[in-house]
Amino acid sequence: MLLPRIDDDLAAKARAAGCPLCGGRLDVANYPRKVRGADELGEEYSWRRSFCCDVEGCRRRRTPASVRFLGRKVYLGTVVVLATALQRGPSKTSVAKLSSLLGVSRRTLARWCRWWSTMFATSRFWTSLRGRFIPAVDETAMPASLLSRLSVTDEPAVVALLRLLAPMSTRPHLEASAS
Ligand SMILES: [Zn+2]
Repeated sequence: MLLPRIDDDLAAKARAAGCPLCGGRLDVANYPRKVRGADELGEEYSWRRSFCCDVEGCRRRRTPASVRFLGRKVYLGTVVVLATALQRGPSKTSVAKLSSLLGVSRRTLARWCRWWSTMFATSRFWTSLRGRFIPAVDETAMPASLLSRLSVTDEPAVVALLRLLAPMSTRPHLEASAS
């Protein structure tokens, strides 16, 4: 599967950089992540990769960016991105259908959609990113508007979007800088 491999890569880079505090060696210290929306995806989706500095007295945890786990959301990043994109996309999958498909309430779906135009659109993360898109992305129609701008590579647009969003999957999340 593609997404775990991208995460492997992000994790390897983080580990190679060493402890951000003392430069010490990082040991594997993955932690279980029970994610809704990933019931059929298997083992790879029940652990979030993480490291811990091996220097006594530091032991700083370092959790690398991830395309699978978006921020602190309980749901998988992919599910949130897809659900909200489908809801606002050209075919406008009905809320009732999506809601039953994903097993989430209409209220949750509405909250995810609001998240894009409120929390995300005003975040430091998006502010640091939006300049890359000329002409500007329609912020009232995200994530569909953002997705449509990412279909230029040979990678599926959703994967490109998750990769773009990966830096905000770790602290300081929405306060992270995209570059
Ligand atoms: Zn350290």
